[in-house]
Amino acid sequence: MSNTDEVLNANKTYAANFKHGHLGLPPARKLAVVACMDARLIVSQILGLQAGDAHIIRNAGGIVTEDALRSLIISHQLLGTQEFIIINHTDCGMLTFKDDELRAKLQKQTGTATVAPVAFHAFSNLEENVRQQIQKVKSHPWLPKQISVRGFIYDVKTGKLKEVLEARAASSGLDN
Ligand SMILES: [Zn+2]
Repeated sequence: MSNTDEVLNANKTYAANFKHGHLGLPPARKLAVVACMDARLIVSQILGLQAGDAHIIRNAGGIVTEDALRSLIISHQLLGTQEFIIINHTDCGMLTFKDDELRAKLQKQTGTATVAPVAFHAFSNLEENVRQQIQKVKSHPWLPKQISVRGFIYDVKTGKLKEVLEARAASSGLDN
């Protein structure tokens, strides 16, 4: 049996015990999360969220891409979320390559250049990456300033979240 068949079987069990049919469309906790797709992150468990509580937007790296912005704008403007959380994590695969190298490798392997994806968004500094994603959300003109935007690094060894603070306090190391 393929893994797809196995998960379809698991769904039969899930549906047999299903209790969430009454939930409404807008997230009850008015929360949206952007997180890496890493298989070790079960975002709802990490944050103690239940079905219906929050929007969870995931991609490689937990990057505020054009598409993540699309989702966040819909999340806030149409579905009323008021707080955003960005989650990156230790041991992320995005720390292990460079955009240019991967692009060159794939181009060579396949013999084809492509227009999409425009970028893979690999990065080399976790905290700096989280700050950049916060900045992309905070600076978007269709997302109002009063929305709380906080970023965290999830430690895959301990299960703990560590907040990434504003660059001025944390980046230089000179003022500690
Ligand atoms: Zn990752």
